[in-house]
Amino acid sequence: MNAVRRFLAPAAVLAALAAPAGAAEVNIYSARQEVLIRPLLDAFEAETSIDVNVVSGKADALLQRLEREGRNSPADVLLTVDAGRLVRAEEAGLLQPVRSDVLEANIPAQYRDPEGYWYGLSVRARPIMYAPARVDPSALSTYEALADPRWRGRVCVRSSNNIYNQSLIAAMLHHLGRERAEAWARGLVANFARKPQGGDRDQIRAAAAGQCDVALANTYYLARLARSDSAADREAAAKVAIFWPNQDGRGVHVNISGAGLTASARHRASAIKLIEFLSGATAQRMYAGVVYEYPVKPGVATADVVASWGDFTADTINLSILGENNAEAVRIADRAGWR
Ligand code: FE
Repeated sequence: MNAVRRFLAPAAVLAALAAPAGAAEVNIYSARQEVLIRPLLDAFEAETSIDVNVVSGKADALLQRLEREGRNSPADVLLTVDAGRLVRAEEAGLLQPVRSDVLEANIPAQYRDPEGYWYGLSVRARPIMYAPARVDPSALSTYEALADPRWRGRVCVRSSNNIYNQSLIAAMLHHLGRERAEAWARGLVANFARKPQGGDRDQIRAAAAGQCDVALANTYYLARLARSDSAADREAAAKVAIFWPNQDGRGVHVNISGAGLTASARHRASAIKLIEFLSGATAQRMYAGVVYEYPVKPGVATADVVASWGDFTADTINLSILGENNAEAVRIADRAGWR
């Protein structure tokens, strides 16, 4: 084995010999805010003595960088948000499959790729948020019903350039079929209170400020506003409530943040250990407490503010479908005029 390696790759063998025993490391490309994941990685380093090196960046820029670097990429793990984006990475050949009993035990099947190319590590829901001052929740029911003319001029949602909305449309496409999903998108666009602008937080703030009555946004944004250092943000959060749609049917649309082993990974064992750690109870409690997401591992408690919204039924489709439907979802958004 050594002889073969020396013959094939002398530089790599010299590097391996030069490295002190036990100096294991893993390199992450992370699209998650470092303040959010640093505590997780510190806990991993403390538990395993494996050094974690992080390159932080915007999600799509990191994918482009991985593509550009190809086999020479130093990255071992891609940490990013949205199943649609993880499928995009998989389809671009940037990931390799992992089989792990730990990951399969910790992560419900709908939140991981059937072939093991990526694994969900935290769950976020994208429910309807509403201003109780102007909306009686008995008027709310489903995503589909938000396309009803009664909501004309009352809906806030960000641009469809954002993958969160592409994934929502991809889920609608799966459940309703192309024609009905497109009719829904058209009806929703007809009900927009304003041209899409800003991120999810801005939709919540707009609902609080009376610019619209209902908004679509990911749950953790409302939690972060509610726990913000800014009094204005806390006041805005107090004026907005969550409605869990489609509870008599398929359930609320959910998505994940997740990780995959890169195709170029050199620190394979350490990388898998890291992903396993992130799916375990210690890390899952931190996801819940620090990032205000739902733990992907069953039985781990959520943060108080998140628990205060009550339980909900989540859509159970395998989230790889969001990626498979992404291109068609983008076309639907375009045709519906959802800019
Ligand atoms: Fe987000």
